[in-house]
Amino acid sequence: MSQQKLFEREYGKVKIRVYGGLNEIGGNCVVIEDGDRKIVFDNGIRFSLLRKFYGGRIEPLGLSELRSLRIIPPLDALQGSSSLYISHLHLDHAGLLSSVPPEVSIKVPSLRVLENTLASWYKRPGSWLAYVPPDFTAKVGEIEPGRDDENKVIAMPVSHSSFPAYSFLYMGGDATIFYSGDLRFEPLANICRQLDEVISDVGVDRVDVAMLEGTNFSVEHTPISASTFRDYISLLLREYELISISIDPLDLEAFMSILDLSLVMERSLIIGSERLLWTVNEIERIKPEALNTMHISEELETPAPLSLKSISLINEVFKSPENYVLVIEPVGLL
Ligand SMILES: [Zn+2]
Repeated sequence: MSQQKLFEREYGKVKIRVYGGLNEIGGNCVVIEDGDRKIVFDNGIRFSLLRKFYGGRIEPLGLSELRSLRIIPPLDALQGSSSLYISHLHLDHAGLLSSVPPEVSIKVPSLRVLENTLASWYKRPGSWLAYVPPDFTAKVGEIEPGRDDENKVIAMPVSHSSFPAYSFLYMGGDATIFYSGDLRFEPLANICRQLDEVISDVGVDRVDVAMLEGTNFSVEHTPISASTFRDYISLLLREYELISISIDPLDLEAFMSILDLSLVMERSLIIGSERLLWTVNEIERIKPEALNTMHISEELETPAPLSLKSISLINEVFKSPENYVLVIEPVGLL
């Protein structure tokens, strides 16, 4: 896989190069050159390769080693480009933001979410993950959705298990390019809309090239639909007493969906993982009234945000579990 051939195509004056993410899951990095403009979509880590070389106590020595093994995009993908657009904050798309040359401006889906999630999780891990937060010399700005920007890019908010997430349209002179990023066709909560609705708002009715991420395209099972997700969670809430649900720590939609259902079933939601604390800030904006029924587990021993009450799992929750739903993330589960 490290010998993957660079995909390169020209559509009139618009040239597309795909450095990663083709015939593999993750590692997305798409470069578009059009006259003297050069932009990049995503800067992903190729996890398949990372797992091949590292594990246990064997850790990358640094950025140049990761580059030479092609686990992160080569420097020439990024050099000379004006902007790097990050579709969402999963590491197979955002990658190591410290590795981006300082002349490239980094555009992220949300500065607040970046600060409260990746940047705080990986600030001082004492490992190669310290390269995840952007370097302090980098220009980091926020994507402005819905209109074409100085690079002729239109960012369209989409549903995904990392919030917020974007698809992009590049309005080149000779070709219109669509890059999906990773997305769900059906949002789990009403904080996002379906892709077709978002595209029709933009008013573009055809594209020349569409690059679609399809993590589930070839799997044997049908990906779970939003209504099936809600049905299963409702069933759990009705049938069982102690319920603990593990979700991707960036999946605000799943969090909101579980929160809504727990409100209907008159259960209080308890945050059981530190990495889910950023959601409190978002709930404050989207659904502040829900904060009254949310708690943080006392056993986490992290200072609770002011708006949340803490509660002891051992002394309270486990004694009357039918009143609660515990939400954690996979690291917390371990
Ligand atoms: Zn993703």
